[in-house]
Amino acid sequence: MYKMMTPGPTQVRENVRLARSREFQNPDLDADFVEYYRDTCTLFSELLHTGNETLILDGEGILGLEAACASLTEPGDRVLVLDNGIYGEGFKDFVSLYGGTPILDTKDYSEPLNVEELAAYLERDHDFKYATVVHCDTPSGMLNDISRICPLLKSYGIMTVVDSVSAMFGEEVRVDDYQIDILCGGSQKAVSAPPGLTMVTISGDAKASMEERKSPIASFYANLMVFKGYYEKKWFPYTMPASDIYGLREALENIKKDRDILNRHARIAARTRESLKDMGLILYPNSGYSNTVTVFQVPKGQTDEGILTRMREKHNILLAGSFGCFAGKLIRIGHMGENATDQNVDETLRALKEVLSTD
Ligand SMILES: *Cc1c(COP(=O)(O)O)cnc(C)c1O
Repeated sequence: MYKMMTPGPTQVRENVRLARSREFQNPDLDADFVEYYRDTCTLFSELLHTGNETLILDGEGILGLEAACASLTEPGDRVLVLDNGIYGEGFKDFVSLYGGTPILDTKDYSEPLNVEELAAYLERDHDFKYATVVHCDTPSGMLNDISRICPLLKSYGIMTVVDSVSAMFGEEVRVDDYQIDILCGGSQKAVSAPPGLTMVTISGDAKASMEERKSPIASFYANLMVFKGYYEKKWFPYTMPASDIYGLREALENIKKDRDILNRHARIAARTRESLKDMGLILYPNSGYSNTVTVFQVPKGQTDEGILTRMREKHNILLAGSFGCFAGKLIRIGHMGENATDQNVDETLRALKEVLSTD
C-alpha cells in the first residue's frame, strides 16, 4: 500500500472504513434510513454555513457538476463559463450537452480570476442565466476567490454553479454569505471518504428556476428535481448507496469535531510551498495557491514519470502528475483532508528532497 498524497482520492480514516462495513436495511423500505439520509444532508449544509438543502447523489464528483448544468440549462440559455483552468473550461461541455450556449471568459491559467476584470466584463454583458466557477482547479492547484466572485455575479441576477470538490473543508466555504446557488462537492477529496458520492447544495433561486422551466430536464440520473418531496414521500428516485452514505456521515462527523481544520490546511500548505521553494523548485500557478494541493513544475532534465516512480518505488508515496495541457509538466502533492497532517507532509517532503537529489 502506498501512502496516498494525491489531490484525491485521499486517505480515509479507519472509523470511516468501519462505518461502511455496518449492516444495512433496504434503504428503499427503511424509514430510519430516510431520516439518516436527511440528517447527513443537513450536517453537510451546516458545515458549509448554509440553510440551503443538500442532496447526496450516487455518483462521483463529476455527477454533481453535470446535474447542476442539466437541471438549470434550457435550450438557448446563455451561460458564462469562467475559465482559468481545466475544470473551469470543462463546464462548457456540460452546458452545451444540455442545449445551452456557453460563453467562455478565458483567462491566463497561471493567475486566479481577477474580480475587477470580471466586474468590467459584466458591465458590458450580463445576460446570463448562470455562471460556472471552479473554486480550486485541481490540475493546476488554482484557487479562485468565490467569496467575491459569486456575490458579484448575483448582483446582476446571475446564478452561480461552484465546483468546490477539491477545496471545501480545506478552504473556507460559506454558501449563504457568498450567495452560491449550486455548490458541488465530492466524497473523495478533503472530505476523506472513498470515491463514489457527490453532494450538492441548492438555493431557493436555483429551485425556483428549475420549477419554472419550459422544457423538461433532459436527464434522469442528472436531474436534481427527481428528489423533490423524497422526504415527505419516504421515497428515493433510485436505491441509495447506504454503505457509502454511512462512510460519508462518519467523515463529516470527523470534520465537525475538527476545530482546527482550516488553520491546519493553511499552515501545512504554506510549509509545503516554502519547502519546495527551498529545494529550488518552481511552483505553479504564480499566485492563488490552494491550501488543499501544491503544484510544482517538473525540473529541467527530469520527467514527471521519473520522479513519481522513484517516489513510489523508493519511498512508497503516491504523488500525482497532471493532465490535459499540463501533462508531463506539473507534479501535485495533495495535502487535503486526512492527508493534511504534519507527519504525512514531513515524510513526503523528505522523500521528495532525496528523490530530486539522486536522479
Ligand atoms: C476531483 C475533482 C472533481 C471530480 O471529478 P474526477 O472524476 O475525480 O476528476 C471535480 N472537480 C474538481 C475541481 C476536482 O478536483
